[in-house]
Amino acid sequence: MFKRQTLIAWIVLVAVSVLPLSALAQTQIQYHNNKYSVQDDIKLGRQAAQEAESQFPLLRDPQVQSYVENVGRRLVTSIPSQFQHPEFQYFFKVVNAKDINAFALPGGPMYVNRGMIEAARTEGEMAGVMAHEISHVALRHGTAQATKGQKYSILGGIAGIAGTILGGPGVGQLAQAPFAVYLLKFSREYETEADILGAQIMARAGYDPHDLANMFRTIEQQGGGGGGFLSDHPSPSDRYARINKEAGYLRVAGDTRDSREFARIQERLRGYGAAPSMAEIQRSGQRYPTGEPTGNYPTQGNYPDNAPTGRVSYPSTRYQNYNIFNGGVQVSVPSNWREVNDGNSVWFVPEGAYGQVNGQAVYTHGASFGVAQTNNRDLQRGTQELINSLGQGNSNLRTTGGYQRTTLSGRNALYTTLSNINEATGRPETVRVITTQLRNGQLFYMVAVVPQNERGFDSAFEQILRSLRIND
Ligand SMILES: [Zn+2]
Repeated sequence: MFKRQTLIAWIVLVAVSVLPLSALAQTQIQYHNNKYSVQDDIKLGRQAAQEAESQFPLLRDPQVQSYVENVGRRLVTSIPSQFQHPEFQYFFKVVNAKDINAFALPGGPMYVNRGMIEAARTEGEMAGVMAHEISHVALRHGTAQATKGQKYSILGGIAGIAGTILGGPGVGQLAQAPFAVYLLKFSREYETEADILGAQIMARAGYDPHDLANMFRTIEQQGGGGGGFLSDHPSPSDRYARINKEAGYLRVAGDTRDSREFARIQERLRGYGAAPSMAEIQRSGQRYPTGEPTGNYPTQGNYPDNAPTGRVSYPSTRYQNYNIFNGGVQVSVPSNWREVNDGNSVWFVPEGAYGQVNGQAVYTHGASFGVAQTNNRDLQRGTQELINSLGQGNSNLRTTGGYQRTTLSGRNALYTTLSNINEATGRPETVRVITTQLRNGQLFYMVAVVPQNERGFDSAFEQILRSLRIND
């Protein structure tokens, strides 16, 4: 007991003698006057997030997603306490766009471009951009700027027009505001603050804050860009110098960098082929289906903890269109089904038909779509490979019929039926597999599941298949 007290006293002494120096030296940042409430930030951010997700294709890759989410989470927990808002819901999604950019919305939604992750030389550089954007959110810069009566302007690349989302008398106006607004352009003062707080957050999270400055060099070397992150004022060289100055005041808490994981994610992204630019996305005018944007990205970890009951409603005769795989596939599904993503495939399922058993996603009714890389360009051999891989996780899976030729989106396809015992209900089920080849040689598949002897779903599956359009 005595020993322990001594140790605690020693720790306190060390803390007292070391901490204040760095705490005094680092630049103190204050909130700006803000006539909006924290709830206003949240409401505004949600509206803008919904609009952003309808305009930009999200990269629905669970590995990339959870990696970026982990980095973001680490940074958010490192926000100094005076700038933490427990009401804010920070979440991080990846946009399949090549521009070196990221943007964050009031209240916490954040979108990181795939091009930014690919361009960064280290995880620290990527984290630097994210820490900068998180700082705008934590400092409530959007509503602070509106309080001053200044306009958020939309960068030309995105909307082609400049407009105002805030600045009117109250947030009630927000609902009607034209919402093409994510790349918020902040004043020079706000940009500097986000750089400084961003550097402080990085140090607290264990990243070298110099990496935030280094990202400016990286953007330059990659031929400019930077969009909303790289605002034209202050100049990149001013920002580089100011961040490095701040970094000199800061003590880095540990060493968070994990270059191996970062390199693995970069390699994975390069495997996707070229991403469009945000301007190209904007010009295409394509819209993407959205729900309420939240951090609950539908991946396995966010499935209901319980096993699916299998008690579901019959498929609605009304259908809803979805674009999946970044718009490469269009499909209509019954309007009472929802989209969930288990990391391997996109599922459309009725309520009650999905959940978890022993940490694995399990479905009782529904249709899924996925793309598989097989070693075989021959459709039937590729399909056999796919079925073998499905069998590895489902020991009760049995082939019940041979292959039948059919068409899918106007191309040659194969159809086969299997039987299985459902892991959640223990009841026998029918699994239909339809495959076709994409131009790049990958296998596109639909897998539909329904309990044996439940007939009400056959026509829905047929309708879904007929509606399917592949644009590759
Ligand atoms: Zn900024």
